Amino acid sequence: MVNERLVAVGVPVPGLGRLTYRVPEGLPMPPKGARVSVPLSGRMVIGCVIEPHAQALESGKYRDVAEVVDTESYLPEQVVDLALWVADYYVAGPGDALAMALPPMARRGGKTAFRTMKVVSLIPAVAGTEPPTPKGGRQQEALTLLAPTPDGVSTDVLKKHGVSVPTLRSLERLGLVQFRDEVVERDPFQGAADGGSTPWTLGAGRHEGRDLTPEQALAYRHLEEAAIIGLYRTILLQGVTGSGKTELYLRLAALMLERGRRVLVLVPEIALTPAVAGLFRARFGRRVTIQHSGLSDGERHDQWHRIRRGEVDIVVGTRSAVFAPLADIGLIIVDEEHDSAYKQEEAPRYQGRDVAVVRGRREGAVVVLGSATPSLESAANAQAGRYGHLTLTQRVMDRPLADVRVVDMRKEFAAEGADVMISRDLWAALEARLSKGEQSLILLNRRGFATVVFCRQCAATLECPHCSVTLTFHRTARRMRCHYCNYASAIPKVCGTCGGEFLEQSGFGTERIEAEVRSRFPSARVVRVDRDTIRRRGAIAKILADVARGDVDILVGTQMIAKGHDFPSVTLVGVISADVGLGMADFRAAERTFQLLTQVVGRAGRGEVAGEALIQTLYPDHYSVRSASAQDYAAFLDHEMEFRTRMDYPPRVGLINVIVRGKSLSQALEHAQVLAGLVRRQGPKARILGPAPAPLSKIKDEYRAQFFLKGTHRRAMREAIVRALDSKPDLKRRTMIDVDPYSVM
Ligand code: ADP
Ligand code: ZN
Repeated sequence: MVNERLVAVGVPVPGLGRLTYRVPEGLPMPPKGARVSVPLSGRMVIGCVIEPHAQALESGKYRDVAEVVDTESYLPEQVVDLALWVADYYVAGPGDALAMALPPMARRGGKTAFRTMKVVSLIPAVAGTEPPTPKGGRQQEALTLLAPTPDGVSTDVLKKHGVSVPTLRSLERLGLVQFRDEVVERDPFQGAADGGSTPWTLGAGRHEGRDLTPEQALAYRHLEEAAIIGLYRTILLQGVTGSGKTELYLRLAALMLERGRRVLVLVPEIALTPAVAGLFRARFGRRVTIQHSGLSDGERHDQWHRIRRGEVDIVVGTRSAVFAPLADIGLIIVDEEHDSAYKQEEAPRYQGRDVAVVRGRREGAVVVLGSATPSLESAANAQAGRYGHLTLTQRVMDRPLADVRVVDMRKEFAAEGADVMISRDLWAALEARLSKGEQSLILLNRRGFATVVFCRQCAATLECPHCSVTLTFHRTARRMRCHYCNYASAIPKVCGTCGGEFLEQSGFGTERIEAEVRSRFPSARVVRVDRDTIRRRGAIAKILADVARGDVDILVGTQMIAKGHDFPSVTLVGVISADVGLGMADFRAAERTFQLLTQVVGRAGRGEVAGEALIQTLYPDHYSVRSASAQDYAAFLDHEMEFRTRMDYPPRVGLINVIVRGKSLSQALEHAQVLAGLVRRQGPKARILGPAPAPLSKIKDEYRAQFFLKGTHRRAMREAIVRALDSKPDLKRRTMIDVDPYSVM
């Protein structure tokens, strides 16, 4: 029975389901999407109303809502519904999903998180009356300053010009000026005067006024048609790197705005937002904003409210921006849709691209998924006709694709010894670019200096005390670090196992490559880009600007540099170990390798000079290496789809990973057995694989066992798990569910 004074509330506490509270008489009834303060196990938490008139519980006992924070909905209804869809599909608590949708400060329930400033403006003289005369020179000066700006000037600015607040207050008493409070928006674009050549706007304007290539024009006609029909449609825009997809996004966005609808643009990484947002800002001005977790809480909050108030037409952001409170969305662009960064690796474990498609369907929007190397999931949807499919096969201006050479490192080791990192061919190619004054980029998808430290006497490796992985040596920081839990320690003097004094390092990461390159070319300007060097806010933007200005000769980095950035004058790309991921127990390894190689090869030769790429590998014949070097997506897709089908992997079937944690591995396995048995009893019409120890069997002092559900009845699979967990609350607390997993380690 529905009760008029009951509300269902989602609270941001991991794993909690919907909670029902009573709104006491005297408090207003909060609508869906409003925040409320509610008691929960002895404290007050901020929750969000997900259902205004909830079903009565069997027990008939309810606690009272303590405070109704908002009397109007704070989150738009459709965003609440989207979050509930996410909670349901990804088997998470509704509060976890709602937490994604709320700006950080709102989770703390703050009502007045805005900063305000005092603005002073002249009061226009009324005709026929004699305005009072100001007294001193100070007052006269203030009036002169205010005269040209009818909108007013902030007291801070006036103070800088020597006009104090008391002076202004005297003018107020004379009826000559008025004060008002104005909300100060913390602007993430601050410091980027529109059109200036700061990192935000680098490259902006380069598109302006250009005709589309015939291929672009053809693709655009289809996109335009979908936009004009104005109904839901997802279109996969497959275009090689440099084929001008971004230009199509911009034009389609302009068309949508003309039609009075709004635009959401998703990019996979925070580091990519400045460049993309800068392009949109250069075309569309102040009605563009950004949303991602790299903004300060204040900036994020202020921009969120601008969006909520309808002051923004285009939002550019990372995956969580899919929950932006933007109304009347007509177009959602997911750039680099294949990128695994769209998958969130903590609860709710959602895939931002897939949620974008769901949002597009609910709001009748056109969804464009752009990529040079579409995910197998999107390719399968296009093949099945669920998505439209447009292709751009050529680079604009007929710039040729890079010339790719594969270097067989087995031969290199035989000739030069097994500790070679950079092959003779790559050294020669780097030297040639340096002498011509051209830029090179070296990719290695591993950071740090040495990846293993071991004892020469007993061969023991130094492992993280909390995780089942070896520690990576970082030379600059002079510490060994765990890349899973960030544990760090100095290198010990002696081996902890046998007391031996000879600790050696092997394996290498970007830091080591940087050192090698510097010692070979001491006068070259070398810059490294990885998570260790770009911790500081704004660091990446500065590096990109340096590269664009030609102040860098060689850029060494992890996959961060492979993604999306446009470096027009890079003419050589070297890939150190193309196969880091291959051979791991990960069914997406070949796809990841292919995507990374294609992306990085695409970085070479985007300007006037033709590019070259060298791929060093131990598996020159692997199909992902071969088709990436031939830039042949179709060949890769055929091979990979055949593999996924034969092995019964996604996108052929749905996959759910269930991970159970324990104090010991045997305990974790035991619990996983119990849970798997309970799931099986629910008859989920799916195969259950495992349980087995997870490939990374210990992370942060917790042991992990896992099993998989594989099948085509996704709903039945999810429901079986939910019912099994609901019958065992103690197991539920130890279990992580990953629907459509990316990392299965
Ligand atoms: P993609 O997003 O497909 O990798 P971009 O949109 O970044 O490609 O385009 C690659 C380069 O070509 C950019 O420098 C862009 O300014 C330029 N470009 C795009 N479309 C055109 C066009 N029609 N004519 C000339 N240059 C273009
Ligand atoms: Zn660790």
